Amino acid sequence: MPDDIILLAHGDGGKLTHELVEQLFLRYLGNPALAALSDAAWMAVPGSRLAVTTDSFVVSPLFFPGGDIGKLAVCGTVNDLAVSGARPSYLTAGFIIEEGFPLADLEKIVASMARAAAEAGVQVVAGDTKVVGRGHGDGLFINTTGIGFPLPGVELGYHRVQPGDKILINGPVSDHGLAVITCREGLEVDTGIVSDCASLNGLIQEVLAACSGVHLMRDPTRGGVATTLKEIATSCRVDIHLEEESIPVRDAVRGAAEMLGLDPLYLANEGKVLIIVSPAQVAACLEVMHQHPLGQDAAIIGEVQPGAGQVYLHTLLGGTRYLDLLAGTPLPRIC
Ligand code: MG
Repeated sequence: MPDDIILLAHGDGGKLTHELVEQLFLRYLGNPALAALSDAAWMAVPGSRLAVTTDSFVVSPLFFPGGDIGKLAVCGTVNDLAVSGARPSYLTAGFIIEEGFPLADLEKIVASMARAAAEAGVQVVAGDTKVVGRGHGDGLFINTTGIGFPLPGVELGYHRVQPGDKILINGPVSDHGLAVITCREGLEVDTGIVSDCASLNGLIQEVLAACSGVHLMRDPTRGGVATTLKEIATSCRVDIHLEEESIPVRDAVRGAAEMLGLDPLYLANEGKVLIIVSPAQVAACLEVMHQHPLGQDAAIIGEVQPGAGQVYLHTLLGGTRYLDLLAGTPLPRIC
């Protein structure tokens, strides 16, 4: 494989994505806000701060169990703001549409965006439409940019993570990844797996209001829980220990992942948040999560320990696995 062209794996959120971001984009475009490489950038504006994030959506197929590209384009950007400790407020939406795309499908997608935006309490305040010729796009791509404002008294970041902190997740992992893959492969009738695509700002704001001990949040999208935790361990210079038996995975998801030779810890989630919280507040945090519809299956899955950036998975069989950034078989166009 030549190393001077873009590969599908440059877009999977794993090792090659990291290299591309650090060695090309940051090298040319870097500044303190961008270099933080967080889900949303915080910028000073007169009298306040502003969180900004942007994301492009190229999911295939455009409609999948539990969602579609429009819902995903709203929820994904809302969640990047929410996990950064911002109150999501405004979105922009850019549509790149291929000539010949059915108007009825476009309307379904835009209506779905409108529902998702209303549920999340955000407004689409600017947009753009471009049409490319037949064969020069693949139906529809959407880019959304999100703007959020600070929640009073909330400060999250890698610098706040400490040994002893607990790691929580709000429910079962990899529903989105498996829903899209099985739908693409024509297997959805057999598995019944539905994407977890949802806006998490409501749940997150309740957690933050109740627990001052939340130190960091991330949404484990591309690359899954394993890649996101490896990024956290590396950035915080700590080790993370995970207990496999505590990580919720639905039976249908586990079965389908095994059949396809995929590891649920590396598959995308679109309605999940990893919360790193002080041991003193973990019980309070879990209680708030359990009372929210999107946190009923919340669980403590691991702990932060002193170290140098390793993620250890203590397996059901009593062994230990190192988890690294996603590298290997790319699963393109999952979001
Ligand atoms: Mg994110």
